[in-house]
Amino acid sequence: MSTMAYRYTKEIPWHGMKDDDKVSLIATIEGLRAGAAISHMSADGTDIGMDILAICADHDLAVSARPVMTSNDIIVARSPRAIRGLHEGSIALDEFLGYPRCCSDAYLKQIRYTKDTPPTLRNAALYWSNARDALEDGRYPLALLYALHVPCAIDCAPSKMTAVRIKDVVERVDPVLAHEYSRNRLRCILSQGGA
Ligand SMILES: [Zn+2]
Repeated sequence: MSTMAYRYTKEIPWHGMKDDDKVSLIATIEGLRAGAAISHMSADGTDIGMDILAICADHDLAVSARPVMTSNDIIVARSPRAIRGLHEGSIALDEFLGYPRCCSDAYLKQIRYTKDTPPTLRNAALYWSNARDALEDGRYPLALLYALHVPCAIDCAPSKMTAVRIKDVVERVDPVLAHEYSRNRLRCILSQGGA
């Protein structure tokens, strides 16, 4: 039996985790990114921190309760070394989360040149408005729904490559999640801007 088959002999008990977090966790278990920041609050506001720790133990993931982004985060990773590197600063957060260099650079450039709007909002708003246009024109690569970051562009090759791999594994591990997740992401893109 392969290691991968072993990891998924049982369904993962999600305990109400948010869909984005489920996809991030599967991508981490599969080694498609070094780690993830998972909210310990469920989609309906229940604290599921202990349940997430149990899922991580079942899947040999290292865990840190020391938050990096928000106080709701549990940091999980394939190796304790990655978590130590993140806390010590030898691994940058974008690298830890598997963001392609071009996308991080595009974001950092916006921080430098944007004064009027918070950079995250501006960066994301531009991307989502482009994504909505592309979706309406039939130009949007659907695998990109699985990019767990804001890509620098609709045709960002590294984002597409990673997203395809994440999509494939989520569809295999949890087809119900794949269906719900992609449907909600599509709805979310189409509601951007409301124009
Ligand atoms: Zn990019």
